Amino acid sequence: MKFDNVITSGYLPKPSKDGTLPPSVILYSGGLDTYILLRGLVEHYKGQEHLIHALTIDYGQRNWRELYMAKKVCRKYGVTMYPQSDTAPTSWPFLQLPTVRGGGGSMVNTGDASDYEKDGHMETQRGTNVANRNVIFIAYAQAWAEVVGAEYIYWGALDIQSETLGKMRPDSTYEVINLMQGLCQKSTYVPARLHGPFWTITKSQMIRRAANCSIDIDFGESYTCYTNSWPPCGECRACKERARAFERAGIDDVVADVDPCVGMVQGRSAIN
Ligand SMILES: [Zn+2]
Repeated sequence: MKFDNVITSGYLPKPSKDGTLPPSVILYSGGLDTYILLRGLVEHYKGQEHLIHALTIDYGQRNWRELYMAKKVCRKYGVTMYPQSDTAPTSWPFLQLPTVRGGGGSMVNTGDASDYEKDGHMETQRGTNVANRNVIFIAYAQAWAEVVGAEYIYWGALDIQSETLGKMRPDSTYEVINLMQGLCQKSTYVPARLHGPFWTITKSQMIRRAANCSIDIDFGESYTCYTNSWPPCGECRACKERARAFERAGIDDVVADVDPCVGMVQGRSAIN
């Protein structure tokens, strides 16, 4: 199927009579999946990109380089970052979640990246689980959506189960997401719709859709590596998953020429 945008038009906000689009919120990590989603929104919002509100969350992930990539990409496209537009170059415009930082022993934050395959966590996804992460993220996104008047919250979740043959993380199942949606319908005055255009497709299908749609998407504007190396190590679980997905998609991956940290004040080093 040929897509004009990575997000189908039925799930993109419609402009008012004067052409203004309602704001949107996107949970944007700086990684590949949410980057592709963001590019879909940027394309739709041409000239009004500041109405895209990117919620990028510092939950203590080891791969904090993705935060810098998120900041760099938002600056480039004029997307608004939480909690303010990026006017102060030294700011750390990421929502920090101290209660989740270091929680769960996940390799994504404090755990040893090499433990993942050893412990047989591949099936359960437990090695990369961060306690209740998605429920917390969606709750924050709904709060922010109400504040800025967003109609949609965009979420880059994939159909992990069919690709890894493993189980979904408990906070990623359709049941939990639907329950969260139902809760937010009641807990906010103006609930936003949560839309995940990739949650019924695999990573390789998402890559193929991005490569074949009408938007010129530069995969090098995303960062993937659990070890936080520059350039990406190519050996960790995240690097291997990315490489495998591109291979299956029959598309060449692109790695950025420049470390996203270059030219940025490294805020995380000041807080760790
Ligand atoms: Zn890696």
